[in-house]
Amino acid sequence: MSEKGKKSRLTTAFGIPVGDDQNSLTAGERGPVLMQDVHLLEKLTHFDRERIPERVVHAKGAGAGGYFEVTADVTRYTKAKFLSKVGKRTEVFARFSTVGGEKGSADAERDPRGFAVKFYTEEGNYDLVGNNTPVFFIRDPLKFADFIHTQKRNPATNCKDPDMFWDFLSLTPESIHQVTILFSDRGIPATYRHMNGYSSHTFKWYNEKGEHFWVQYHFKTDQGIKNLTRQEAEVLRAKDPDHATRDLHEAIKCGDYPSWTLKMQIMTPEQAKDYRFDIFDITKVWPHADFPLIEVGKLVLDRNPENYFTEVEQAAFCPGNLVPGIAASPDKMLQARLFSYHDTHVHRLGPNYHLLPVNAPKNAPEKSYQRDGFMRSDANGGAGPNYWPNSFNGPEPDISSREPPFETSGKADHHPFTHTNDDFVQAGNLYRDVMTDRDRENLIGNIVGHLGGAQKRIQLRQTALFFKVDPDYGHRVAKGLKLDVKEVENLAKMTQHDRVKATS
Ligand code: NDP
Repeated sequence: MSEKGKKSRLTTAFGIPVGDDQNSLTAGERGPVLMQDVHLLEKLTHFDRERIPERVVHAKGAGAGGYFEVTADVTRYTKAKFLSKVGKRTEVFARFSTVGGEKGSADAERDPRGFAVKFYTEEGNYDLVGNNTPVFFIRDPLKFADFIHTQKRNPATNCKDPDMFWDFLSLTPESIHQVTILFSDRGIPATYRHMNGYSSHTFKWYNEKGEHFWVQYHFKTDQGIKNLTRQEAEVLRAKDPDHATRDLHEAIKCGDYPSWTLKMQIMTPEQAKDYRFDIFDITKVWPHADFPLIEVGKLVLDRNPENYFTEVEQAAFCPGNLVPGIAASPDKMLQARLFSYHDTHVHRLGPNYHLLPVNAPKNAPEKSYQRDGFMRSDANGGAGPNYWPNSFNGPEPDISSREPPFETSGKADHHPFTHTNDDFVQAGNLYRDVMTDRDRENLIGNIVGHLGGAQKRIQLRQTALFFKVDPDYGHRVAKGLKLDVKEVENLAKMTQHDRVKATS
């Protein structure tokens, strides 16, 4: 808020001067309020409608503007114009968030963090809508709504419920990799500046020759990784529920601009063919030893929003906003997100949400045949034609912007993922090879503290999954929960089907 300046005249929403903003118009000194006080009516009706639906996930967030600068030549992989030259800068808007909490929830919750970046490119807006974790809990979108319900509130008590939380996860073994990351200290980043961002999904890049590559994005924080222990987070949630929102704002205000180095993993179609993991399975990473990180550019945030609602609350990111040179992969979760994000923004902000300044394609004006709808606030195509094809110089499709044709094959069916034994391998690599003794100790403590609130049969089922990741991991959780280690070991030896039967 500006401190001092020239005073201006208060008006109604329609610019009419307001004479009194403290005393309602009444019939006599102590009489009832008159309908005639249209300024009062306007104030009340607008206030009654101030809240828009909050995001069903990622409701609590913070955002900032800035730029992305290319630092390496990647033109042999992609023809995306904003990546076409070293030194090229593109304006961006980024939003970070927690996932499960409501708009007023605390920033220091154990939860993945959203990491969404909108690039205002000359070929339209490109949205990269990632997380601070390289993997996800599930890999089929049919499970998404159910999964999110378990992370929110019990339908009867309206309280968070460890039974719901762990029941679903223990019945969904592919979640174990993400669960291990979430309950490591990275599950509560110290601030939004001190965490990485990942595409998590595999995407496709294609070059001018039409050759394609599979890619994963890694935004590595230049501030260094910093996390909160569960004890520190507990204090902070009570003391300053908005600590990460405040931190981002204050750092930028002081000129301490946060930045991330964008590094890519790039895989040729030949490498993808016989790779030992399904590269479209979002519960897996691509090991760095097989696909080393290649530096591509720098993301810098140097501008705080002038107004939170207009820029952050109304910011709408869609994984389907892909520019020529970048395309979707068959990752089933990504395929569903291509639809669902746009759908939820239409619900939350209306069919013309693309006209809001933060969402508008500022470097490539919209030229479509979509017309009308609530809150159409631009020229709405003016007198131009509102159909295609037309013979009145309306905008034309550009064949050169098409993704090159790609192969698909096989029978249409509800195909499950195969090789489900792989589900434990990468969580095991993380536990054994990446974590330090201290990380493992904190991981076990974090899990025991949370899983301890669930029913015993659910504790047993989930601990058997930790055991399958690594016997040491399972033993230590079992010990922490005072479970019978032999019982956990036996459950771990069973198939998931039998394990569920034995613990139901
Ligand atoms: P590397 O040793 O090459 O990489 C390990 C990665 O783990 C680094 O990117 C590091 O991030 C990250 N990391 C460190 N601690 C944690 C943690 N508590 N939670 C999540 N990530 C962490 O090994 P690999 O590439 O062979 O991967 C081994 C395991 O590391 C994987 O199974 C996966 O669980 C995890 N991992 C792998 C990533 C990948 O893309 N390959 C990405 C992130 C995690 P940083 O360098 O920023 O410290």
